[in-house]
Amino acid sequence: MAGKEEVFVGSIDQGTTSSRFLIFDTAGEPVAVHQEEFTQIYPNPGWHEHDPEEIVRSVENCIEGALKIFEKDGHSKDSIKAIGITNQRETTVVWDTTTGEALHNAIVWTDTRTAGIARELKAQKGSDKTMNICGEPISSYPSATKLLWLLKNVEKVRKVYEAGNLAFGTIDTWLTYKLNGGPEKNIFVSDPTNASRTMFMDIRKLQYSDEMLEFLSYEFDLKKVHMPKIVRSADKEVYGKLSSGPLKGFPIMGCLGDQSAALVGQKGFEAGSAKNTYGTGCFLLYNTGDKPIISTHGLLTTVAFDFDGKPVYALEGSIAVAGSGVKFLMNNLGFSQASHKITELAESVPDNGGLVFVTAFSGLFAPYWIDDAHGTMFGITHHTERGHIARATLEAVCFQTKAILDAMQKDSGHELKELKVDGGMSNSALCMQTQADLVGIPIVRPKMRETTALGAAIAAGFASGVWKSFDELREVNTVGETVFEAKMDRKESGRMFKRWGRAVQMSKGWLAEE
Ligand code: ADP
Repeated sequence: MAGKEEVFVGSIDQGTTSSRFLIFDTAGEPVAVHQEEFTQIYPNPGWHEHDPEEIVRSVENCIEGALKIFEKDGHSKDSIKAIGITNQRETTVVWDTTTGEALHNAIVWTDTRTAGIARELKAQKGSDKTMNICGEPISSYPSATKLLWLLKNVEKVRKVYEAGNLAFGTIDTWLTYKLNGGPEKNIFVSDPTNASRTMFMDIRKLQYSDEMLEFLSYEFDLKKVHMPKIVRSADKEVYGKLSSGPLKGFPIMGCLGDQSAALVGQKGFEAGSAKNTYGTGCFLLYNTGDKPIISTHGLLTTVAFDFDGKPVYALEGSIAVAGSGVKFLMNNLGFSQASHKITELAESVPDNGGLVFVTAFSGLFAPYWIDDAHGTMFGITHHTERGHIARATLEAVCFQTKAILDAMQKDSGHELKELKVDGGMSNSALCMQTQADLVGIPIVRPKMRETTALGAAIAAGFASGVWKSFDELREVNTVGETVFEAKMDRKESGRMFKRWGRAVQMSKGWLAEE
């Protein structure tokens, strides 16, 4: 099996609930995979943390595990030309530049402890200008408020900041820094798809914005914090090399935030293409080409990828709770022990029985941006059973996707012809059929759904010359697609969506008067 002509690309996929390492062949097929879950830390309601050291260890274990499979199958590790990284975005790590050690648990993107800081920033003069500079509205979601919270509340962090040694990074930066061996090599970089999630970056210049840093400074001087150099998503030189483990000395050449990676992995290279990833959260990215469109309908502007210094932009609709809603039913309510059983439960009833579940566990993200929305169920009767709750949980993601698509059409002036999907929850045929019914366009699900990891491999593959053009990738992952066509009467789906809209309005302000 082993042969000199074999060429592979490795991909580190550092997600919210698990890390993976995959090794792809040039046809875009994964030939070896190892996955490891890591600890989810919820210290208080609305708080969500990860141990940054555990994240690094999980990635190292995944590399080791996948490589064992790869070599057992007769491949040689020398045929791996480069490694790409894709990662959960916004999640914020701070460390001491002198020791390379994290100073606190990472604050995860879903965490809402900074809603108060966001409120205060919104009340500041100039808050209406941030969208146009960084592409994001002020909320607890981007990294900025998370860094401010750490500075404000953790003495250890503040001391290191005062000493001028505080490093800030998203997970891509933390991983490349640590995998390169930490302070000794001091590889300290981030790509624009990640940096565009911090609020610190000028979305047009792809450099830190003085205006944003000043606006967000709060009571601190953010210019005193070390921030990673923003570099291209595909580059031969800047990401360094693994400093230990079985792939020691192998180069990292690509880096994309998970949602950008999924768009690339779905080959959404051209303006007008879109994908929706149903993972822990759900994220719809719509490629808008070489110009950023600043949304006036509740979407974010983000960088889709920057392979050659000519950045490609996307409009993004982010939904905080998708698969995590399914996990909530399993872990908190004891519905079942397996995700697919939740879909089976939802299939056990013919419809939602009048139940609407606004799964606003972290407020509501796009296109609503309601920080103080709470999870709320409407329409409970004696008739309500677990199947209805399961169904309403799946439907909540589909309703929000419909609202995002409507906003995207208004912002871009284009109607989408089809929507490509991936992510764990897209395994649920019922969920995908519901999605098709609600949006009225075909939902296209590829057979190989590791598209996020594939996207990072593509970035690294471009930098290392494994692939040279988008054309070469056209046939990758096209065999065995499933297409879900809308079947529901449009009047009925319209009625359901209206009801959802009413429920959203009623889910806000629950604790406002306390
Ligand atoms: P991430 O990369 O964000 O960690 P994944 O893309 O791996 O997430 O998706 C995992 C999520 O998908 C989990 O929350 C899981 O509950 C959900 N999921 C997986 N399979 C199904 C299914 N058949 N029906 C419903 N939800 C599912």
